[in-house]
Parts: sequence; structure tokens; C-alpha cells
Amino acid sequence: MKFEDLGLSKKVLAAVEASGYTEPTPIQAQAIPHVMERRDVMGIAQTGTGKTASFTLPMLSLLEKGRARARMPRTLILEPTRELAAQVEENINRYSQNHKLTVALLIGGVSFEDQFRKLDRGADILIATPGRLLDCFERGKLLMNGVETLVIDEADRMLDMGFIPDIERICKMVPFTRQTLFFSATMAPEIKKLSQQFLQNPVQISVSPDSSASDTITQYAVASDIEDWAKRSVLRDLINKAENLKNAIIFCNRKLDVASLFRSLDKHGFSCGALHGDMDQRSRTTMLHNFRENNIQILVASDVAARGLDIPDVSHIFNFDVPVNAEDYVHRIGRTGRAGRKGTAYMIVTPEDQKKFDPIEKLIGKEIPWQGDKVAWDAKARRKARKKPDNPKQASAERSEKKQTRKTADTSAKPQKKIHEPKGRKPAEESDHKDKSHAFGGEEFIPAFLR
Ligand code: AMP
Repeated sequence: MKFEDLGLSKKVLAAVEASGYTEPTPIQAQAIPHVMERRDVMGIAQTGTGKTASFTLPMLSLLEKGRARARMPRTLILEPTRELAAQVEENINRYSQNHKLTVALLIGGVSFEDQFRKLDRGADILIATPGRLLDCFERGKLLMNGVETLVIDEADRMLDMGFIPDIERICKMVPFTRQTLFFSATMAPEIKKLSQQFLQNPVQISVSPDSSASDTITQYAVASDIEDWAKRSVLRDLINKAENLKNAIIFCNRKLDVASLFRSLDKHGFSCGALHGDMDQRSRTTMLHNFRENNIQILVASDVAARGLDIPDVSHIFNFDVPVNAEDYVHRIGRTGRAGRKGTAYMIVTPEDQKKFDPIEKLIGKEIPWQGDKVAWDAKARRKARKKPDNPKQASAERSEKKQTRKTADTSAKPQKKIHEPKGRKPAEESDHKDKSHAFGGEEFIPAFLR
């Protein structure tokens, strides 16, 4: 199959060629002809499959006819997070280099003024997170009756983040005759129900079995004792011994752990940054930019970064914690092995993780091989470890752990202004942690729906 066979416009085909794509990915080959016919589409596809281009390329071709009017976007793309929205905008800017189309981004955490100005001028494509979109609508800055195509991207993530009531409201505001494109990485029963509510006679496309992990990712489980200091030591060892480590994302389950793990790695001299939902938008954007540009090698992240972020060519994923939801594992490791490249994913597993670990193997339909000895499952391991610290090193490590956590909790209450500049960092013993704690501050700057 060639891009030329999919019915795309000449301008779009030229942009595809300039992007260096030689052939459509399976989701693109299947979805694009239907989108061009203005059919509703329900696409089950993981990130990394070329999903974004599967809806943006035909959308751009269709938008060549007609023009936008003030405050009346012609296409609305809903994304669950600001990062994803910004990423879709980047993609569209690349693919629309031969067009004169206006793209507006409506996301929280940035000033309304610029966004209103763009809307006033008329946007052909509006990319938005649900909360900010409704906010603008309620302020009278937006009319939804010109929307010809509605895209609901990452529907399972929208569900997890509690956005479905917002999506339902938005769907009632846009014309009934619109085309709807609905994408989700998984097809949980709730997602199926929602798709029936939002779509009319959709074409169903699935490019991989539900919740599968890419075959290009080599996965390992690594046993560790339960204490955080032990897990950190295992992690450092894995990083130091990893083959061909170009860059890595380390996932933690809790925001607080992102903060303390970042500090610890930084202290040990790793080139790292942190990303989670409590950071203000500027810090998040800067951090992602630095990671993309290889200014920092390791990004410690919470699951806010797990879904959909297109950071090409991440070589390694480390799960510092076994994720609570098995599906998050698939999303996390899906940050590597993208577009056919090879990747490696490690998961640190402690004796009490069996309840989280077993569902992951069940979901991905295979056993994750152990690097080193398999962990000895023990649901009461934490309680036992708390009762008797059996060596002085452990006792002292636990004390400093507690101290560090308290420190982190303190800084997380304060908004910080400085942006962490990873390049030219001072040696660990001289480094000033106050300068970096911006990354964990400022809850009050984050709209409630993103907390
Ligand atoms: P997505 O699933 O939309 O996040 O896309 C994942 C990555 O694949 C992005 O870096 C895209 O630029 C890239 N990509 C999309 N379509 C193609 C294609 N047909 N050939 C090669 N790479 C592609």
C-alpha cells in the first residue's frame, strides 16, 4: 500500500514525503480512506502506531475546501493532556506546511489572551483539552456549530481522568451531522459503550490485539527488596549496566516518588529531569524539550507522561514501581520500541507486588522473563521489613529516606520559579537542590482537572 492510494490531497502527499515516510502504517492504511469519505471511525490503536497521522492527514486534505470563520472552528481535536495536545499541534504544523490553515491550541496553564486572539481570527483546526475548551465556550469566546469533524483521542485516558461528562457535554454542543473519529488504545467495555454513544455507524479498525505490547520491546522483570533504598540501588545498577542506553524514562506510581527519585539520581550524578502532573506548564514544556533535545538523558515521570507522548527513539524504560493498573504497563513500555525501533523495558519487582504483577502478564499474554533470580512473593514483606531493620545500613538508609521524603513534601507545597537547567550542572556534592525543586511545586497553578 502507498500513501498515493489513500485519496489524500497533493499538498498532504508532499508533506508526507518531506516527513520521510515511505509507506503508511497499518492504522493509516485502514483509517485514511474512510476518514476521506467522512465516515465515523472507531480506531483501536496503541500510541506509536502512527495513529495521529491517520486522522490528521485526511483531515488536512478535507479542510482544503472552505475556510474558517471567527470563533467557529471547523475541526475539533480533544486530547486528555496538554502535552498530547501540544504534540498533535506539532504534528499538524509539520503536515500542513503546504497549507494556509490556522491551528489553535486551547490548553490549561497558559494565558487566555493569546488563545482568544487566535479563536477570534478563525481556526480551521482547534486542538483542546476538555476543561479549557468548556471554559472558553462558557466565556462566549467559541461557537461550536461550525465543527465538521470531531476527534476524541485517547478515549481510555479520558475515561481514567474523569473527562467523560465533559466530552458528553461537548458532543451535545457540536452539530449532530458532524463526522466523529474516536481513538483508544484499549477496548474496555466502558469504552465500547461510550463509542456507541458518540459515533454513528462507525467503521471499526483495530491494528493490534487489545492491550498488546510491541514485539520490538525486550522486557525484563528484576527482583528487589521492598525498601526504596534497595530499589534505588537496583535501579542504578540497571542503568549503569544497560546496553546501548541512549535515553530512558523511569516511571513511578506516585508523584512524591518522582520527586525523591529524581533527587536521588541527581545526587548520584545522573543526567536527569522530572515530569509529573503537579508541575507548572512552563516547567513541563521545558523538561520535555530538554529530554527531546538530549540535554537530559533520563526522565523520571509519573503516568501523566505515560500516555501518548511522542518522544522518538527512547531506548530504555524502567518501571521503578510495578504499575497499579496493568494497562498502564503497556502504555509505559510503549514509550520505547516505537515505529518499529528496538527498545528495552525493565520492571523492578518486590516480594509484595504479586497482585499487580500477575495481571500484567495476563494482559500482555506472556511471561516477562526475570533478569537474575525471580522474586520470592510475600504479601507481608513490607510489614516484616518495618518490624526489624536487620542491618545498620538498612536502618540508616530508612532514616535518611524518611528525612528526604519529609523534605520533598515540604518543597511540594511551595511554588518555585526557577527552571532546572540540566546542562552544566554542578557536581553532586555542590548542587543546590532548591534550584530544582520547582519541578514539584505549585499545585495551585494546575487546574483541578489535571491534578
Ligand atoms: P503516533 O502513533 O501518532 O504517536 O506516531 C508515532 C511516530 O511514528 C511519530 O514519531 C510519527 O512521526 C511516526 N510516523 C507516523 N507515520 C509514519 C509512517 N507512515 N512512517 C514512519 N513513521 C511514521
